[in-house]
Amino acid sequence: MASAAALLIFFGMRRLRGLQARLAQVAAALVMGAAISGMHYTGMAAAGFPEGTLCLSADALGGDNLGALVIAATVVLLSITLVTSIIDARLQAHANRLANRLELTNRELQEANDELQRLAFNDPLTGVPNLARFDDRLQHALALASRRPDRRIAVLFIDLDGFKPVNDSWGHAVGDQLLRQVAGRLRALCRATDTLARVGGDEFVLLLEDLDDAVQAEVLARRLLNAVGRPFEVEGHELRIAASIGLAVHDGGGDGLRLKAQADAAMYAAKRAGGNQVELFDPARHRAADPSGLLSDLRSALERQELCLFYQPKVCGRSGRVRGVEALLRWRHPARGMVPPLDFIPLAEAHGLIVPIGYWVLDEACRQIAQWCARGRRLHVAVNISALQVRQRDFVDRIDAKIRRHGIDPSLLICEFTESVAMDDVQRTQQVIDQLSAMGVRTAFDDFGTGHSSLAMLRQLGAHELKIDRLFVKDVASDAQARGVMQAVVQLAHALGKRVVAEGVETAEQRDVLVALGCDELQGFYFARPMAPEHLIDDDATAPVPFSPSTFVEA
Ligand code: C2E
Ligand code: MG
Ligand code: MG
Repeated sequence: MASAAALLIFFGMRRLRGLQARLAQVAAALVMGAAISGMHYTGMAAAGFPEGTLCLSADALGGDNLGALVIAATVVLLSITLVTSIIDARLQAHANRLANRLELTNRELQEANDELQRLAFNDPLTGVPNLARFDDRLQHALALASRRPDRRIAVLFIDLDGFKPVNDSWGHAVGDQLLRQVAGRLRALCRATDTLARVGGDEFVLLLEDLDDAVQAEVLARRLLNAVGRPFEVEGHELRIAASIGLAVHDGGGDGLRLKAQADAAMYAAKRAGGNQVELFDPARHRAADPSGLLSDLRSALERQELCLFYQPKVCGRSGRVRGVEALLRWRHPARGMVPPLDFIPLAEAHGLIVPIGYWVLDEACRQIAQWCARGRRLHVAVNISALQVRQRDFVDRIDAKIRRHGIDPSLLICEFTESVAMDDVQRTQQVIDQLSAMGVRTAFDDFGTGHSSLAMLRQLGAHELKIDRLFVKDVASDAQARGVMQAVVQLAHALGKRVVAEGVETAEQRDVLVALGCDELQGFYFARPMAPEHLIDDDATAPVPFSPSTFVEA
């Protein structure tokens, strides 16, 4: 029983560590010692012989031989025990090492997994969630809210006012730090259940779940506004910005998935009203701003592939040959038919949609250039660029990527900027024109004559081409004064080394006068209307044909 107790203590010892294990070891040894001694004395006590008993093996067993045998057997036994315990200890240490490593590998795997999750769902600059995580949370919140009609959800769209000048004048490093600080201040005001995400350069969205009423969201929005309005300290500079916040509240009815778009629309309303304010989404006002629902349709037009490009030929003044075309955007609306650009481009510009649309236009134009080149037609394609596109930091890089992607000669692409685009940020426009020129892309100054028509601007911007608006062209055949102005502009442009394109040529008389005045290229309904690319090129002809109005099918 004592040996059994000693073995029990010994096996139990494996679960113990340090001093406790040593104590258990001593206890097991003592109990085992007691068991052995107990055996010995019990045995001795049992071996009692009556006096005069005769021992037959008295001389057979004993002496030095027996002593040597006992010593040898003991040494062998002890050696075997020693060797087995060494092996046991080694195996135990190895098993411990393996267990530790496994634990480590598991931890490393978990850490790597956490990092991947963080990268996939968080904005690397500010560390707050990104749009993917936000959309996921919004879906989840809407699903929960559908079961609990008393709880409300709100989305706040926060766009910083005055961030771009900070970025432009202090550099991107300061801009990045400012964004981090803004994110920090916004986050500090949020509850643990709210989701703050960065969704664009200086745009954040905030999802508020479990609201009692809309007022709660409005109060928070004002606190956020105040927080952003306090001065920031970045690298020793005191920076001041503000925010425009749009707020949309979901009360169970309507389409919850439009919540973000509604908050976005409200944010634009706040911006239009001068910025630094909170605007609550108002369905009635929104309908007034977008009475026909065109804006909401436009948001999905790109995905549904409803946009397409028409091309209007530009004809060489002297030879009458088609040298190039202007790409003009069209929207094949499923219910309204063909929507002209002036009906939707201002809307796209006001809501930032012109950026993705503009990239699509550039890509499609480059693809078309490549296709025509493959058929032996080297046609220049002019693309209209809007101010918001010019403001994109990576605008030129993305054009470069598209040119490479389609493998076209960059000199076949012409980017058209209007004066209002240039006026938006003259320095940036100049920078973009210079970078495009360095890449070999040509540039044109569009609609000359409609804005300020500043001659200084004409000289300052290094565009290759000047496009004179149809307002100037209209009276050129009938009015000597208009002709005089046109002549001066053509001469000036030529003196500055620019080619001149006259837009809106509708009659043969206008054409004759413009050619006589030295216009390099002419564009207008007299030659052809904008048309689908399949109408423009006659695939059977092998070389560009000299122009005749019948060359083109009117679109
Ligand atoms: P724009 O760049 O000045 O384009 C010329 C406009 O004049 C085109 O109108 C064209 O159809 C029209 N036009 C051409 N010849 C004549 C003519 O003989 N008589 C008259 N009355 N009009 C003529 P469209 O296609 O409606 O485009 C209007 C404007 O929309 C364009 O003016 C341009 O500023 C803008 N736009 C078109 N496509 C794009 C685009 O892809 N991106 C951007 N940002 N703007 C675009
Ligand atoms: Mg144009
Ligand atoms: Mg124009």
